[in-house]
Amino acid sequence: MKRVSIFGATGSIGQNTIDLIARAPDDYHVVALSGGRNVAQLAEDAIKLRAEVAVTAYAECLPDLRAALAGTGIEVAAGEAALTEAAARPADWVMSAIVGAAGLAPGLVALQQGAALALANKESMVCAGPLIMETARAHGGAVLPVDSEHSAVFQALVGERIEDVERIIITASGGAFRDWPLEQLAQATPEQAATHPNWDMGQRITIDSASMFNKALELIETHEFFQIDPAKIEAVVHPESLIHALVGFRDGALMAHVGPNDMRHAIGYALHYPERRALPVERLDLVAIGQLTFRAPDEIRWPALRLAREVMAAGGLAGAVFNAAKEQALDAFIDRRIGFLQMAEVVETVLDRLSAHAGNMNAVISLDNVRQADHLARVTADDYMRNG
Ligand code: NAD
Ligand code: MG
Repeated sequence: MKRVSIFGATGSIGQNTIDLIARAPDDYHVVALSGGRNVAQLAEDAIKLRAEVAVTAYAECLPDLRAALAGTGIEVAAGEAALTEAAARPADWVMSAIVGAAGLAPGLVALQQGAALALANKESMVCAGPLIMETARAHGGAVLPVDSEHSAVFQALVGERIEDVERIIITASGGAFRDWPLEQLAQATPEQAATHPNWDMGQRITIDSASMFNKALELIETHEFFQIDPAKIEAVVHPESLIHALVGFRDGALMAHVGPNDMRHAIGYALHYPERRALPVERLDLVAIGQLTFRAPDEIRWPALRLAREVMAAGGLAGAVFNAAKEQALDAFIDRRIGFLQMAEVVETVLDRLSAHAGNMNAVISLDNVRQADHLARVTADDYMRNG
């Protein structure tokens, strides 16, 4: 039996992971499940999967979780320390599907106990890529990409040498505002931004898709994951979202990964890796699809893509600053404190202000330094949004 834990179990990726695991209950022993405020879902899944422990991120949710699991024998816990304690419990495979920088610490702890880390939480790669890869190496663990683009690249690289890679192309749907006139973007609401043409995902990543901050994070994630020169990484708009990524080799060949818009594909690949097993995803009918289209990414419409290039060029803690400023700006947009276009303005300002002090960006990438950079970026973003 494979021992598995799922962090962010109540979210979109977490629920898709549980769907796969619940189809083969005899194959898995579930160690830990974590969630946030959705205690009813967390408790239901903990019972269904017979988890050892259920953890909510929030202390105020603990009484409800305890009540929901009373008499089941399932342990309950709450808070950040409880999350890392749960991540330290031996497991063979750990899904990292918390949203935001909060996913970093449990992921690192899971790697330290030797687990294979299925990484949906792209933010941790953006904030601390070298630390994650080094921790995996030091403890004989593996990091398996779950972001669909990175899973696609990972699959296209099987049996290949990284030196033979000429370029990596990740695709972007273009999000909710792909076809909006530019002059309307300033008025876009959080509700409009949170509808995605192709994928059913959490609210935050869906809005990040409309602003292309999601693709910006993914460019950086590609650079960190595959140790590829940023100049070799491209994004292309592909409205159908059926090709997830392409890898170009020195002989000019492009290997594309084509599959349905269903995250169970990438999750399942990581779950069964290095094997391939049957997955309950749609089989594509190419004739019915008819055609696939591509467009150049427009850096005026989506300044986040330009900012990602600057972050990759800066290196160091710039990724942590970028991600934290983005999270803060996204919160403000969701709360209607700033407009859609101001998100990029906030992030750019924070990067400019903090890069004026080289020490902010050039420190070693340790968990403490990442946390400090994250904190500084959030304070700087808030200050700019309040005082200009
Ligand atoms: P979601 O909002 O649906 O779920 C987030 C999960 O994290 C929930 O379980 C929530 O309770 C938990 N959580 C939120 N804040 C937390 C905190 N501060 N501490 C601890 N737990 C917290 O998000 P999602 O769409 O499932 O995305 C999860 C991660 O996967 C993100 O990093 C996202 O970028 C990435 N991802 C998602 C998709 C997708 O299709 N949804 C695709 C690729 C990558
Ligand atoms: Mg993706």
